[in-house]
Amino acid sequence: MTYVFDPAPVVTIPVAGSDERFPVRHIFCVGRNYADHAREMGENPEEETPMFFIKPAETLVTDNNDVPYPSATTDLHHEVELVVALKTGGNNIAPDTAGLHIYGYAVGVDLTRRDLQQICKDKRHPWDIAKAFDNSAPCGKITPVNECLNLSPSSDISLAVNDEIRQKATLGDMIWSVENIIYHLSRLFELRSGDIIMTGTPAGVGPINVGDKIKCRIDGLEDLDFQLK
Ligand code: MN
Repeated sequence: MTYVFDPAPVVTIPVAGSDERFPVRHIFCVGRNYADHAREMGENPEEETPMFFIKPAETLVTDNNDVPYPSATTDLHHEVELVVALKTGGNNIAPDTAGLHIYGYAVGVDLTRRDLQQICKDKRHPWDIAKAFDNSAPCGKITPVNECLNLSPSSDISLAVNDEIRQKATLGDMIWSVENIIYHLSRLFELRSGDIIMTGTPAGVGPINVGDKIKCRIDGLEDLDFQLK
């Protein structure tokens, strides 16, 4: 078989302590998974099911590369998130077996055009233009689960802009656990190898500008550092 043009290369994320890279299929994202953040956005944190949206795999920025300031916004916001990488998938995955599908974890940022998101909310439009734009998903190296020895509900998650802490919480503050996210997501989509999930952000989101240096940390995982250009 021949293609009518060269297909796009597979998007990959580096694996910590290895020369291997993790090939990415979809990026699923969870909205409003920390109560304080839901409230700061004027939303109700007590929903019956998690809220999901999707970014294309090609929105990833890896290897601590610079992130270009996107077009069509003057209010680009940071959202630091725990990223879950799946080695296998399926439909209707029970919470108590969800962990078996996890390859590893990373730190990521769900960059958001907040001004366009507000317009989408006001007009009841979908969120794609606010969330799924080019270079909107910086992501650090993936640490395989068997090397995530210090990762726990008490692990801190934080983001600093030019060394000033803007977001800080613990993973235990998540409303929906990783296992419950996989359960709910797998009822809506067949999950497959290479899918990653951005699991939502704590309170403290805010604007970032050209030249800002962003440092993202989760205890027990590889740091994510990038600069906005
Ligand atoms: Mn988010």
